[in-house]
Amino acid sequence: MNKHQTFLGPVQETTPVKFSDPLPQEVDVVIIGGGVIGLFAALYMRRSGLSVVVCEKGRIACEQSSRNWGWIRQHGRDRAELPIMMEATRLWEEVDRETGGRTGFKRGGICYLASTKERLEKRAEWLDIAKECQLESRLLTKAEVDKLIDRDKRGGDAHEWVGATHTPNDARAEAWQAIPAIAEMAHDEGVVIIENCAVRALDVSGGALKGVVTEHGIIRTSQCVLAAGAWSSLFAKRHGITIPQMSVRSTVCQTEPLPEFYGGNAADENIAFRRRNDGGYNLAGGARSDCYIGRDAFRNFWKYLPVAAAHLPDITFRLSAPKGFPDAWSTKRDWAADEVSPFEETRVLNPAPNMKQVAKLQENFSKIFPSAGKPKIRHAWAGMIDAMPDIVPIVDRVPDMPGLIIATGMSGHGFGIGPGFGKILCEMVLGKTPGHDMQRFRFSRFSDGSKLEVGPDI
Ligand SMILES: Cc1cc2nc3c(=O)[nH]c(=O)nc-3n(C[C@H](O)[C@H](O)[C@H](O)COP(=O)(O)OP(=O)(O)OC[C@H]3O[C@@H](n4cnc5c(N)ncnc54)[C@H](O)[C@@H]3O)c2cc1C
Repeated sequence: MNKHQTFLGPVQETTPVKFSDPLPQEVDVVIIGGGVIGLFAALYMRRSGLSVVVCEKGRIACEQSSRNWGWIRQHGRDRAELPIMMEATRLWEEVDRETGGRTGFKRGGICYLASTKERLEKRAEWLDIAKECQLESRLLTKAEVDKLIDRDKRGGDAHEWVGATHTPNDARAEAWQAIPAIAEMAHDEGVVIIENCAVRALDVSGGALKGVVTEHGIIRTSQCVLAAGAWSSLFAKRHGITIPQMSVRSTVCQTEPLPEFYGGNAADENIAFRRRNDGGYNLAGGARSDCYIGRDAFRNFWKYLPVAAAHLPDITFRLSAPKGFPDAWSTKRDWAADEVSPFEETRVLNPAPNMKQVAKLQENFSKIFPSAGKPKIRHAWAGMIDAMPDIVPIVDRVPDMPGLIIATGMSGHGFGIGPGFGKILCEMVLGKTPGHDMQRFRFSRFSDGSKLEVGPDI
């Protein structure tokens, strides 16, 4: 693979290994997981003078970070996430410049379309948060929507929206390219990156972190960031640390190139679409997802009840996950540090897309853009979203294990905010007080009796 290869699809197990640095004996920080969170954290830590290794069990960005829609969304964010997200958007612009435009970053805006007045009123409630944070979001009338998403071009019998909420400076990036490009830049600046390197366990002595045990040997360290996406809860549980995380399948597809109706990202009740830089669209069913019942899903049932009730029509429950998934019934929950772990057994979590959903997306796309006809699908894929009961992540130190920081449960919107949390993780490792209020993301919130406050959007 040449240095600046454009990836043709979500990263797979067949994608050639690109990063195979020798295992260091000792570093300042070990990062478990080469997704958007781990890589941005590594980049900023290295820029602060720390020695950092990123251990990735499969390939860089092989799971959620190359499978997402590519939305860099401030719109609809939780109050506590929004200031971090506003900074993250600025950082995306910066890294896009630094990588010579290879992330595909573009500010095309994000629009939440409503087909009924009630839906529009519900959407508009969030605008108070935007105003508080001085974000340029506002309500659009039907006439303004028709202008933004070219009504004449859409076709005579196109679906009508009554209005929308809109953030014009929201953005997108091409996920397949962006994270590998960030990894290359971080590597060029001195981050050690090792693919095919699962971390099996933490090496803990006297309650404190001494190192991590990888499939290739031990790395000594006093600081570790667990950014393992859908696998974080399984990893943590082995050490008696409970993260009430659940992973749900979300399907995406990409169309062949089509006329430009709108250059940004938009979603209504039935479909989410965003213009791609190659002239096609990424399509998805909004919050529609498949939830596989496993031991963790069972255990956490009550914690998830509020969010499940709010999204019930969007969720399909399935009795068991395929073999090798983090919460499959047959997945090992405990293993010795010198034995093959579940992380090596599934190098790349690559769920099959839900093709019924893809067919529905084609149909829904032609309802809103009848002039385009039924769109041809170039690729369909799926990813497992690591959701939390309140749909905001944990980004915090673990009180009972000095040295361990958890950064996980990004709940379907961690791509956009990646650089923001990356900066915060760097500050935490350096022992500085992060520049944002981190209360909302604390580890203890599921066990300290706090009332669960569900965030506004997945
Ligand atoms: C279909 C879909 C659409 C989405 N759309 C958007 C969007 O438009 N905008 C947005 O902001 N977000 C979106 N998201 C969410 C976003 O992609 C994720 O929140 C984000 O990528 C999470 O990044 P991460 O680094 O935490 O996890 P991941 O990207 O999942 O990375 C974790 C990595 O850790 C590795 N790993 C796990 N265990 C170990 C171990 N023991 N040792 C070594 N490595 C390990 C895994 O192989 C994986 O590569 C979407 C997600 C999906 C699935």
